[in-house]
Amino acid sequence: MSCWKTFTNTAPCLQWRFWFTWCPRKHTMKALPLETVRLLCSSQVITSVLNVVKELAENSLDAGSSSLEVKLDNYGLDRIEVRDNGSGIKVTDVPVMAVKHYTSKISSHEDLEHLETYGFRGEALASICAISKVFITTKTTADDFSIQYAVDHNGQIVSQKPSHLGEGTTVCAADLFKNLPVRRQYYSNTKKCKEELKRVQNLLMAYAVVKPELRITLSHNKAVVWQKARVSDHRAALMAVLGAASVANMLPVQHRQEQPEIVIGGFLPKPDSDFNMTSSSSPDKTFIFVNSRPVHHKEILKLVKQYYTSAHSNNESVNRRYPHLMMNITIPASTVDVNLTPDKTEVMLQNKEGVLLAVETLLISLYGSYSVGDDNPQNSSKAVQIQQMDCTDKGESSVVIPTPTKDISLMDPPELLEHSSTIANKQDSELSLSNTANTSSSSSSEDWVINRSSSDFDSSHFSLSADDVVMNSPAVLNCNSPKPSNSDHGQESEISAERWSMGRAFSNQTTGECLEPVKLHVPLTNQESGTTASGPTSKGASPTKRPSNVIMEKMAKLTAYDLISNRSVRQPSSAFSLFEKDTRSLILQESPRASLQDVTAAVRERWESLGEEERKKYESKAEKSLKAYNLQRKRATEGGGQCGEGKKQMSADSSLNKAQGVKRKAPLSNQQALNKLFSSQPSSKGSPAKFSKPLPFSIATLKQSLNLFSYQNSSSAQGLRLVNRLASHGAWVVLCGRKLMLLNPFRVEEALLFKRLLENNILPAVRQQTPVQLTDGVLGGPEYMDVLLNMEKGSPGFNGDTYFTDPRLVANGFEIRIIPGSSSTERRVEMTGMADCMPFYGLGDLREILQAVKARDAKNAEQCRPLKVSNYLESEAVRLARQLPVNLSRADVTNTLCRMKQELKEDSLVCLHGKPFYQDLVTVPETEEEALKIMSSSQ
Ligand code: ADP
Ligand code: MG
Repeated sequence: MSCWKTFTNTAPCLQWRFWFTWCPRKHTMKALPLETVRLLCSSQVITSVLNVVKELAENSLDAGSSSLEVKLDNYGLDRIEVRDNGSGIKVTDVPVMAVKHYTSKISSHEDLEHLETYGFRGEALASICAISKVFITTKTTADDFSIQYAVDHNGQIVSQKPSHLGEGTTVCAADLFKNLPVRRQYYSNTKKCKEELKRVQNLLMAYAVVKPELRITLSHNKAVVWQKARVSDHRAALMAVLGAASVANMLPVQHRQEQPEIVIGGFLPKPDSDFNMTSSSSPDKTFIFVNSRPVHHKEILKLVKQYYTSAHSNNESVNRRYPHLMMNITIPASTVDVNLTPDKTEVMLQNKEGVLLAVETLLISLYGSYSVGDDNPQNSSKAVQIQQMDCTDKGESSVVIPTPTKDISLMDPPELLEHSSTIANKQDSELSLSNTANTSSSSSSEDWVINRSSSDFDSSHFSLSADDVVMNSPAVLNCNSPKPSNSDHGQESEISAERWSMGRAFSNQTTGECLEPVKLHVPLTNQESGTTASGPTSKGASPTKRPSNVIMEKMAKLTAYDLISNRSVRQPSSAFSLFEKDTRSLILQESPRASLQDVTAAVRERWESLGEEERKKYESKAEKSLKAYNLQRKRATEGGGQCGEGKKQMSADSSLNKAQGVKRKAPLSNQQALNKLFSSQPSSKGSPAKFSKPLPFSIATLKQSLNLFSYQNSSSAQGLRLVNRLASHGAWVVLCGRKLMLLNPFRVEEALLFKRLLENNILPAVRQQTPVQLTDGVLGGPEYMDVLLNMEKGSPGFNGDTYFTDPRLVANGFEIRIIPGSSSTERRVEMTGMADCMPFYGLGDLREILQAVKARDAKNAEQCRPLKVSNYLESEAVRLARQLPVNLSRADVTNTLCRMKQELKEDSLVCLHGKPFYQDLVTVPETEEEALKIMSSSQ
């Protein structure tokens, strides 16, 4: 009314003009043009670069890919490319692949009851097409070659051409949001772009954690931002994401129940963990999954945060922290609705209370019970128990919690653990048989049932190593102080589950010590033995059958450093590793041609036959090393990574660097700094005005000390002498004769690693669904078939099949067998498995091996590595070298130089990229005049 009044009081012509311009020009309703509808809907589905990557990555995962490469140009705004090696898109599906609501994943909404894929709405590709220019290249096994399709904004194919790419799909979305100026504008801010890149990385990390077998690479503007190799289990995947130091502070947990059917598996921070290492100020590293789908679930997040903080309540600032963890909640697909938001990160749980209760039970078992507002949770006894159990070097124990569906808050917390260990014990025999240290169990409200089948839950991924099942070890049992209990009255009486689980069911009559109920013998995998601090306990399994990425295992050994708060701290050495360090070089001296595996085996043998006294010596050294580590760790965490260099670089490039993860950041920037330093030689510099300051200096004294340096120690590599470290750059000043040079130890390490990988690396072969027949034609002629047939084979199996064991095939990731027939025409040669860690690896590469054998008489794996393999190993060597700490110690560099001398030819002292290991600085002057000449020429 008042508004109308204002109108009437103003001049009439003005009133009308205003009215016409203000009033919307519509009276009839019209349907919006299809194109507009498409754009409006699509831009709701695809709201960001992150969305595009998420949708494309999920499509790749749904296609069963084991390799995922994400490449962004200009933070994804110019180009997003996602490449996989999955099943590809069938030619018949191509015309509709980018049409809205076409999907190959479900046929009707009823299928959602059994949903096993990430996608199902058939919207993503169509939506991405609407907001960008899309090219899709794809090839299935049935196709002879791949085809690249150009798709228009309506999802229609506008052109196609053959492409060289192998099996799988590559989707490339260019010029994102070109037709949505406001959205594009949002990204004009670099800070926002960097944040988005970080979000993309976090998302890929989530998939990395939940899919250990997936190889992931994220590149931005052609530089690798983050990558993860294929690994065998969630623990290794977490290590790749969070770093070894953080994972060392975590415990594998598992919970399984029926009614409601819930399985929870994962890794949680130990109750006594260092919160700096196991939490962040944002929930980026709190990886929560429902049926392997990364989700944001406020209530679950709140619960884990509460319990984590309650267990670390001794520190005020922990309240604002989110724990690093992985928790995968597996529930029947019919009980979860993921169709709430287009990006499916929110889920509605049919039995939310049940799930929350299960999560809480798991948390209680680890951290003790906690009620909201209770700042002093009754967790102490529980925490102590777990701490006590955690007596292994590896520092891991498992918590297996069967859930009673009773009100958990009424339960005495220790009881839960006791029950759980009962189950772990009862399972022993099964465990040793099944060869997986899986302590999974199921329970209903009434009874504790041992679930023999683990097929419905991929327990191998949560497999716990021998150390994990620490509850059963004698040390653990002794650790637990006996709890006064009514049932604790002599061995004759009935043995209660509780006493059994506590290891107090039987005791030695004379000594009174508890007898160990059953000892679990679980063979360690190579990887585990590599990290076992107390010494080797297993002889490596057959190398060809190793499921994990061999290179990853090597890496575990290589990264002897923890990165704590952006500073590298050397991990404590175990007695064995100290011994190994001493013995390895001895063995190499004795037999310089011994392979890495031989040396490792020899070291093990010597360790096992080592005298008591010698062993003690190493043990006490290990203790010292642990003390030093704890001290350094404390300093590093207190200092919060305030070492000058690290801090400067952090602030200069903070958010991108953070996105790259601490581990990758330091070595990369170090490498760049080194390159810069190497490329700017003093003599080649343009000479801007320099300030100079005279310093007292005596050539005679310098000469004297340098003489001492260069001739005294004849054992140093190639007469090289380490002078000092250029701490700011991680380079070393070395002296060779009178030549003063800069050494880049990382380049040497890279070359050494590459050489070793070429010699020893065995690419794991992955079984193929259908074997490939190898014929003369396929191999390039009968002469190549002859070469193959002459290669080393194993003995025939029961069915007569003979597998090739020749290292030239096996190490290059080929599994080939001969199926005998009555005549040579009936005999079949088949390729049954192949390495899948390189894209487009295949028959061509097998031919390359055979050609190398025929033409060059290649005798070992190294001599016939196909080009793809050697490129792959080269990139792995670079990646592994980058895991090394920034500042190598003098001992490390001396060791590197020794190995360089032993292993690398003198004429090949360049790194993998052709750059020299050394850079000449200056020839040390002999006379005063020479010195003056140098000084005057450099001015
Ligand atoms: P949705 O994933 O919901 O089915 P999309 O629009 O993301 O819908 O994909 C449409 C269809 O295209 C998928 O159902 C699938 O059949 C096919 N597709 C898309 N990306 C890939 C890929 N990377 N590999 C194999 N098939 C794919
Ligand atoms: Mg999809």
